[in-house]
Amino acid sequence: MQNIIRLLPDSVANQIAAGEVVQRPASVVKELVENSIDAGATSVSIVIKDAGRTLVQVVDNGRGMSEVDARLAFERHATSKIREASDLFSLQSFGFRGEALASIVSVAEVEVKTRPAGDDAGTRLVINGSEVQQQEPVSCPVGTSIAVKNLFYNIPARRKFLKTDNTEFRCIESELKRIALCHPEVSFTLWRDGGKEVELPAATLKQRITAMFAGAKSVKGLIDVDTKTQVVALHGFVSTPESASKEQDKQYLFVNGRYFQSSYFRSAVLRAYEQLLPQGVYPAYFIYLEVNPAGIDVNIHPTKTEIKFEDELVIWKILHAAVRESIGKYALAPTLNFETSGIIDIPVLRRDTVVSVPQVAVDPSYNPFREESKKTQGPREWQKMYDGLAKDHPFFRGDQGEESIIITSKINADAEGEPAAEPTAFQSRIFQLRAKYILTPVKSGLMVIDQARAHRRVLYEALLQSIDGASPAQQELFPQAVRLSPSDYDLLLSVSGDLLRMGLEVRDFGNHTVVVQAMPAIAQAKNAGEMLEELLAMLKRDEKSLQDNHRHALASSMAASMAIGAGKTLGEEEMRNLVERLFACSSPDVCPDGKPTLTVISIDELDKKLLKREKSEQKTEN
Ligand code: ADP
Ligand code: MG
Repeated sequence: MQNIIRLLPDSVANQIAAGEVVQRPASVVKELVENSIDAGATSVSIVIKDAGRTLVQVVDNGRGMSEVDARLAFERHATSKIREASDLFSLQSFGFRGEALASIVSVAEVEVKTRPAGDDAGTRLVINGSEVQQQEPVSCPVGTSIAVKNLFYNIPARRKFLKTDNTEFRCIESELKRIALCHPEVSFTLWRDGGKEVELPAATLKQRITAMFAGAKSVKGLIDVDTKTQVVALHGFVSTPESASKEQDKQYLFVNGRYFQSSYFRSAVLRAYEQLLPQGVYPAYFIYLEVNPAGIDVNIHPTKTEIKFEDELVIWKILHAAVRESIGKYALAPTLNFETSGIIDIPVLRRDTVVSVPQVAVDPSYNPFREESKKTQGPREWQKMYDGLAKDHPFFRGDQGEESIIITSKINADAEGEPAAEPTAFQSRIFQLRAKYILTPVKSGLMVIDQARAHRRVLYEALLQSIDGASPAQQELFPQAVRLSPSDYDLLLSVSGDLLRMGLEVRDFGNHTVVVQAMPAIAQAKNAGEMLEELLAMLKRDEKSLQDNHRHALASSMAASMAIGAGKTLGEEEMRNLVERLFACSSPDVCPDGKPTLTVISIDELDKKLLKREKSEQKTEN
């Protein structure tokens, strides 16, 4: 029988490889620009004609190639980047297969001009469909210019497959963005049919991001993310919750300087914003992971953007925690800024602001149920907000009518076992409005606290901690039996273990009846039956989140069922106590369901209001 197996000529093999590497003009841009960066360029220009159909040219000021290298570079498996298979696992540069240039020359007409720094003259090469047409010395600047003309001229099917000019150009832009975001130190210019489309000067990362997305809401407020662990080091930026937007095109993950997509890691970032953003609103993020190259597999496919991580789970957690911590720090910073020695100002919360506050790391030794353990940093910093107030301003003195109780509060900082509670010189007033709001002057104006929400926040944080360890319970003197509907009964029993840890002991009495044996000590004289009823209502309303985020759902439902509501008149001590405890929370300004607990009416706002009044009064007088 006749032998039929034949080795393919290189040009055909290259074309086959090109099918993988070069799918459209954007892939050419990607390969060439990555090569420029690998060659140490600090400045890269990209020239595009007809969305790359006619021309893709990349000009760099990198190290250039010698005459021999220039020729070799276009051979298959020609690379200066690896020598042995094991190098594959420690590789830091972009390309490594040595097939990009070989693939490109197999499907286009290519002209190269290149000169290394030491040489007087450069080399010019013309290659058409893998065949070298010309090679000659040329005078050119140090660096490399590669012009790829008439892409797919020899594969009409491929050429037809290209999308509209605008689509192709957008692909080019997005490839360039991914690279530019990894190399803010390199300047990039993108030309389209003779016009300058993009110009990115060398910059810091933050400047680069802002320059690239000039005007976009989600990059207006960026918070630093930065963490180093043994498994992964990561840094970058995420949106403040306020600047999050509907747009979803500013979400970038990189690993070891390479863009990748991962819905898994994306969820780690987005989940850090849980409760902080309304539906359909997303933060921008630019996060750069550094891992041991041996721990990832980038070798899946030359154009794929998925990457396999060995320590996926651990990295997810670290990423999530890092973002959450950053948002937490940011959210607290304006309220309780521990670094600044000066006076702290509370930011003015507007109605349209999404209030941002996740729980930040909590002190595990903190026992919210013991009076003396309230002495966290909170109250002390809280005190600072009063600094500089006109302490005896007449507005806050005197009788304000029946429902306003004017008191003088002394907030004592006696944390960390410092000599306790000498009355500080500072005094401030607190009063209640309509048995609903607690009002108190702060440096920037008048702070209004929603008492019910504040109490829910305080209880919520206390309960969250107690889920992880038993908390004091108050045995009921007269245990109350409550009969429930079958579904309520099942629901309640399914979470009874966690409830017990939070101090609520319900015993199954059979026949859809439970007995409340003990109540959380912090529940303060709530009626057990009422509380159960409210708790079940909350749990049912939130059944989905009970599955997704069990601890949060349970603690916030419990908090809601135990909290004081509007309509409860509070005494001076109670108010002061509540405010102190609120500011000992990790997230004082937001209720567990994401609504604000407080707002500050700024002096500015008051001034404006009164000014308006003044003006309109003047008008009517005239
Ligand atoms: P790889 O990047 O995987 O090594 P390529 O086909 O992309 O494979 O490039 C082959 C080789 O050509 C590179 O290893 C590098 O030595 C050289 N080269 C390519 N582009 C440039 C450039 N812009 N400047 C200097 N050298 C380059
Ligand atoms: Mg390459």
